[in-house]
Amino acid sequence: MSEGFTGTILRVNLTTCRIEKQQHNEEFYRTYMGGGAFGTYFLLKETPGSLDALAAENVLTIAPGVTTGAAVSGLSRCCITALSPETGAVGDSQTGGSIGPTIKRAGYDAIVITGKAKKASYLFVDDDDVQIRDADHLKGRTVLEAHDALTAELGRQGLSILQCGPAGEKMVRFACLLADLNDVAGRTGMGAVFGSKNLRAVVVRGKKRVGFADPDGLKKLARLAVERLDDSGFPNTLRKYGTAGTLATQAEGGNLSTHNYSRSYRSDYSQLDGAAIESRIGAGQTTCFGCVVGCRKKVKADRPYQVTDRIGGPEFETLGLLGSNLDITDPVAVAKANELCNNYGIDTITMGGLAGYLFESLQKGLIPPQAVGDRTLGFGDPDALLWLIELVARREGVGDVLADGFEAAIETFGRQTAAVAVRVKGHGLPAHMPQVKPSQALMYAVCPIGADHMSCEHDWLLADNSETAKGLGILDCGEVDSTGLDKVRMTVYSQYYYSLLDTLCLCMFCWNLGGLFNYGELRDLLRCTTGWDCTLWELMKVGERRVNMMRRLNARRGLTRRDDRLPEKLGTPLPDGPAKGKRVDPEAFAGMLDRYYELMGWDLATGNPTRGKLLELGLGWTV
Ligand code: SF4
Repeated sequence: MSEGFTGTILRVNLTTCRIEKQQHNEEFYRTYMGGGAFGTYFLLKETPGSLDALAAENVLTIAPGVTTGAAVSGLSRCCITALSPETGAVGDSQTGGSIGPTIKRAGYDAIVITGKAKKASYLFVDDDDVQIRDADHLKGRTVLEAHDALTAELGRQGLSILQCGPAGEKMVRFACLLADLNDVAGRTGMGAVFGSKNLRAVVVRGKKRVGFADPDGLKKLARLAVERLDDSGFPNTLRKYGTAGTLATQAEGGNLSTHNYSRSYRSDYSQLDGAAIESRIGAGQTTCFGCVVGCRKKVKADRPYQVTDRIGGPEFETLGLLGSNLDITDPVAVAKANELCNNYGIDTITMGGLAGYLFESLQKGLIPPQAVGDRTLGFGDPDALLWLIELVARREGVGDVLADGFEAAIETFGRQTAAVAVRVKGHGLPAHMPQVKPSQALMYAVCPIGADHMSCEHDWLLADNSETAKGLGILDCGEVDSTGLDKVRMTVYSQYYYSLLDTLCLCMFCWNLGGLFNYGELRDLLRCTTGWDCTLWELMKVGERRVNMMRRLNARRGLTRRDDRLPEKLGTPLPDGPAKGKRVDPEAFAGMLDRYYELMGWDLATGNPTRGKLLELGLGWTV
């Protein structure tokens, strides 16, 4: 096997120090293809339903996909999957950069890690040579410091580092992973899983050639991206301003989380938009392996806060959650908060959501001021936020309470605070407002990993690309505000497609609606990399299979329909802005949920995959 995949998955047990290279046949690869499907496969095979996410037996998979390694735009993402310490459900997070292609060049289709090292360690994969090494010298050091120490030790050439930061070491439940210094696998607490295994970093050097079925065909696809970029809408905006370049559009539509999701608009939003950030603190950009878009923006500032350009700048979600959602509109302050989170290894989305929860609880008198010590905390105060991030990273005082996530904080501060805790399955909401985007309302609730904005199509983007969407069988995407069958069908179809992208580890910015490639070219990509002549139907089934595997895993862990619920706060009409009066109507939402389970072929009462659905997808082995 040499086309698109090596046939070898690296298995490392940190308890026994056993390192093995496991072989899988072509049918395995064509059925699961990579990324989050690989990770969920190993979780289903090897973990009991009762396993604690911080237990040594949790199975952590770092997986690119069968197309990874080709020098075509948008192929370079990598999935990290394990049971989530943040939600208790399946955890799954993606990063860009070069870690995925480097794993392929080292000769592996995935790295699967189990067990727990006796002391702080890092895994060094240098092609065939795999070592578990001492990481005592990295303990407590920031991401930047650890990165510099590792590159000084091992050299920079061809090296890619995935590390958890000091927050992960302390098992902050929403600790993230940094891929080198500019890319982040932010969600579901994969950094805490590293910490629970005494694993500070996975360092990979790969010098082998990845073989593909049709290298000339791949060169043609690579050229198409170059030719189309200038005239593309969304990717071209990303090239200029990064994801921050979308903030003005979202704000003008009343879709920007503000004051802990109490509002969705602020008149001074332009201070946080990509153009303003670029002119005030822009410091260049980087790109993922092989991608012409280069959307990873860097920032640098001296005043009022010093911000380094060595670590990635704030993305749209971060500007929303650490900025607008906390009524902070100075981009330098948000950039500093982002730098702190990245340097400690903390997910900016959940961090912003928890800070909003705390600030609103204090503001409304739901908890007494002395509960957070003698420091005054509140909205619009960047120094309060920076102080809070430090406490979370160190697990000190109120930071120690927040470090265990929403449900633990509610338990500590009291049930009266639950009304201002904006989360699903314990997972903080992204900056897109479910009151304004019904597809996101539904997906935030049903997504197996908790609220996620990258798991189905957004109503607005679909409306702008309705002709292209017909290629997925979405013939009628309905009104933007619709909560009817048309919207649910669109959500289901696009969820399969997004899930496919997370299986192949393709970037949505390049391979989705409004991106650089079309669905026919996705089939070309599979043919050119693997030699497989896949139909779009087969590929959509791969995406559907991953979603069902994740829900099956969650069902085994006791999750049901009652976990697919939105925060009660979203039922209150928005008070102002372009989306004034909009809310999540509980009755309409319940109807969407019913239709969704029906269309997915899941049980209406439990919201879990039926035996028939699992058998249809070749997942009878999970029953
Ligand atoms: S569009 Fe941006 S995130 Fe996506 S592959 Fe290219 S550089 Fe990476």
